[in-house]
Amino acid sequence: MDTDAALTWVRGIASAVRRDADQLTQLDSAIGDADHGVNMQRGFTAVETALDGADLPTVGAILVKTGTTLVSTVGGAAGPLYGSAFRAAGKQLAGPAATAEQLLAALRAGLEAVQKLGAAQPADKTMIDAYSPGVDAFEKALRGGGDLTDAARAAWTAAEEGMRATIPMIARKGRASYLGPRSQGHQDPGATSTVLIFRALAEAVTR
Ligand code: ADP
Ligand code: MG
Ligand code: MG
Repeated sequence: MDTDAALTWVRGIASAVRRDADQLTQLDSAIGDADHGVNMQRGFTAVETALDGADLPTVGAILVKTGTTLVSTVGGAAGPLYGSAFRAAGKQLAGPAATAEQLLAALRAGLEAVQKLGAAQPADKTMIDAYSPGVDAFEKALRGGGDLTDAARAAWTAAEEGMRATIPMIARKGRASYLGPRSQGHQDPGATSTVLIFRALAEAVTR
């Protein structure tokens, strides 16, 4: 992944979030406070502005700028969580381009940052339930001899499966946890936006 692909990735997330903002907000209205689409759109619109004309010579610098902007513009849980993930991922990537292995390490660092900040475990019905299987599938594809495109596509598919698997879960973290068992039967909004992030990655690195 070079800096052009990294910019395409992040701008692709911004477009996807704009396109699906209403769906994200509807999902959050069922088990949260109906602002996830608004939060994500505010954050990634600010990211687009921050990237315009900025001097960002490495993939890492682009991701750190993305994360810092999300942390400073998004209220609510997801902004700081995604922001920390992008910052932690970016800190792993110092060169002008990143190999698939380096990107894997960066994605893992991002996942660890989310878990450190939010203390969610798998099956707590959060973004972790899409993010964690996504990273695992990315790694498995690489270990199986796949390239970056294969890995990113596998990650997208696994994240989508993880997203759907949140439907029967009872939320144990975030606002949805206030509902207890009444959170069952609804897809987690953050897991849904995580799929958009993996999808945009797959599209940005397609051969
Ligand atoms: P808020 O809940 O503060 O309104 P958002 O609606 O933007 O923030 O984001 C909600 C999403 O954030 C949830 O759907 C869930 O995926 C994610 N989330 C909330 N708390 C945590 C946590 N502790 N760890 C991981 N993800 C979390
Ligand atoms: Mg919300
Ligand atoms: Mg909120």
